[in-house]
Amino acid sequence: MPTTLRWLGHACWSIETGGKTILLDPFLNDSPTAPVKADAVEADFILISHGHFDHVADAVSIAKRTGATVVSNYEIYEWLGKQGVEKLQPMNLGGAIELPFGRVKLTLAHHSSVLPDGTPGGNAGGFLLTLPDAKIYFACDTGLFYDMKLIGAVGLDLAVLPIGDRFTMGPDDAVEAVKLLAPKRVMPSHYNTWPLINQDAEAWATRVKAETKAQPIVVEPGGTITI
Ligand SMILES: [Zn+2]
Repeated sequence: MPTTLRWLGHACWSIETGGKTILLDPFLNDSPTAPVKADAVEADFILISHGHFDHVADAVSIAKRTGATVVSNYEIYEWLGKQGVEKLQPMNLGGAIELPFGRVKLTLAHHSSVLPDGTPGGNAGGFLLTLPDAKIYFACDTGLFYDMKLIGAVGLDLAVLPIGDRFTMGPDDAVEAVKLLAPKRVMPSHYNTWPLINQDAEAWATRVKAETKAQPIVVEPGGTITI
């Protein structure tokens, strides 16, 4: 079965691969653009990139309802345990773990990380997923950094990059990120949720096509692609 990705608005993605459903950064009930509510999604695994509300808001409720295993940095792992989440996989930057669907590496990100109740959320990260049929990199919330060249050296089938600007990379730096990562395909994330991060994704895609070798793919919230 091929791997599919569905954008659930903002920075939330649902990945179906190898018979498992992986949810990244669940922010649904309070997201203006999410196509589904938190009680309508399934998950076997939940990946959390950092502690901000727009990435963890629905993680606890979905984990408790579905019994999903939550993968995060050590500080968020401790916080989730205190919220009563039972199945957890702690990590830290640069480390990787083997899960039933593939290998998950927690990669560098340049961003901050505080949990909704003020608890320090450790370092923000991104995720590199090595699946049997594809390598997918989620930069998650970050500014541009040159080490993206190293992440891309594994040969990425898909990169998912923030383009919203203000809190993360904007469209200009996201084009530079595509040049460093050299993925086959690239999708934008973390934009058009609120006016503060409104961007023209189609204009960005036109630039990606003109300036890089990657194929840009833009979907609306709820849209799905197959790898
Ligand atoms: Zn964010």
